[in-house]
Amino acid sequence: MQRVYTSSDPVSAGLVLSVLESAGIRCLLRNQYLTGALGELPVNECWPQVWVLDEADAPRARRLIAEALPHDGAPGEVWTCPDCHERLEPQFSQCWQCGALRQVCSQGS
Ligand SMILES: [Zn+2]
Repeated sequence: MQRVYTSSDPVSAGLVLSVLESAGIRCLLRNQYLTGALGELPVNECWPQVWVLDEADAPRARRLIAEALPHDGAPGEVWTCPDCHERLEPQFSQCWQCGALRQVCSQGS
């Protein structure tokens, strides 16, 4: 099992799930029903997460996800969290692992 996608948006998570399923990748959605009950839990733990059952499918799944989701002009590069070194998809502006903000000031000059 490997997590390939996390989003605060359940609609995006559902889209990702359907894309992976239609590609024949076995996957599941976690936390689909917890988003309305944030309460005491860390927010990131409550976000919908898409997991692939077979880790061998993860690279293909990530590619499909990147193709399926609109990026709204965000830089189309995977970035690495400066704090915990988690690799993050371009659409994230914040690390879902540790909450660090994306560093963008040094890019694009
Ligand atoms: Zn981090």
